[in-house]
Amino acid sequence: MRSFAQKALAVAAAVSAVASLTACGGSSAATDSGGKKITIGIKFDQPGLGFKQGSSYTGFDVDVARYVAKDLGYSDSQIVWKEAPSKQREALLQNGDVDMVVATYTMNKPRSKVIDFAGPYFVAAQDILVRSDEKDITGPKTLNGKKLCSVTGSNSAERVKEEYSNKVQLMEQSGYAECVTALISGTVDAVTTDDIILAGLAAAKGNGQLKVLGTPFSEEPYGIGVKKGRTALVKKINKAIEEMIADGSWKKAVNAATKGTGYTPNSEYNPPTKIGDKSWIQDL
Ligand code: GLU
Repeated sequence: MRSFAQKALAVAAAVSAVASLTACGGSSAATDSGGKKITIGIKFDQPGLGFKQGSSYTGFDVDVARYVAKDLGYSDSQIVWKEAPSKQREALLQNGDVDMVVATYTMNKPRSKVIDFAGPYFVAAQDILVRSDEKDITGPKTLNGKKLCSVTGSNSAERVKEEYSNKVQLMEQSGYAECVTALISGTVDAVTTDDIILAGLAAAKGNGQLKVLGTPFSEEPYGIGVKKGRTALVKKINKAIEEMIADGSWKKAVNAATKGTGYTPNSEYNPPTKIGDKSWIQDL
C-alpha cells in the first residue's frame, strides 16, 4: 500500500507533467515526453541555409535549430523537420503545425503582429543575383523595365516594389531555386533576396554563370519565429542563441555554411548583439 504522502507525490508529478506539457506544447506540435518531439519549420531548397537531401538536413538554419532544440531538451532524433516556404511561415506557427520556424525569417513589424520572434541569430542584407555577363543591372535602382524574380511571402519583392523600382516586372515564385532556374534560362534578368541565400544558390546551382552584385540595400535580422505569446520560449531561445555565439558553435556553423561561396557576413552586425531587443524589428 502506498502512503498518503506517496500518493500525493504521484498526483503532483502527474499534474506537473500535464502542466509542463501545456507550457511547452499547448495546441502546438510538441507531444508528450518519452515520445517527445519538436517540430521545426525550415527551408528545404536553400543550399547552405536550409536544405533537404534525401533524409539529411543541412545548413546554417538547421545548425541553429539543432543547437536551440538541444538546449530546450530535444536530441536530433526528437526533431521533426517540416518545410516552411516563405509564404507559409506565419500560418504554420499560428496553426500549431510547427513549434518554431528557423528559415531565413526576417524579424519585421507585419510578422510581429501575428507571431513572436526570438533573435536575431544572423543579420543578412538584400542583394541581387544576375548572370555573369550582365552589364545593365548594377544595383536596385537599375531594375526599371527589367524582369525580376523573387518569392511570394518574402519581404524582398516588397522592398524593390516599394522603395526602388515601380517599373520592374516582378515574377513571383514559391522558392528561390525556381527563380535561379528562370535566371539561367533567360526568363528573368535578376533574382533578389538576401545575400547569403543568393550566394548559396549561385555556388550550388550557378556553375559559374551567376554573380551576386554585392550591393546590399537592407538589414535582414534573422529571427526564430514562435507562436504569438510564447514569451518564456522566446527567452529560452534567446539564451540558446547567446550560448551558441559564446561557445564558438555559431562561428563554426557560419563557416561551414558559407564555405566555397565567396560570401562573408557583414562584421558590423555579425555575430549579432542585443539579442531579444525589439529594435531589431524592421519596418518591412
Ligand atoms: N529574409 C527575407 C524574408 O524573410 C527573405 C528570405 C525568405 O524569403 O526566406 O522574407
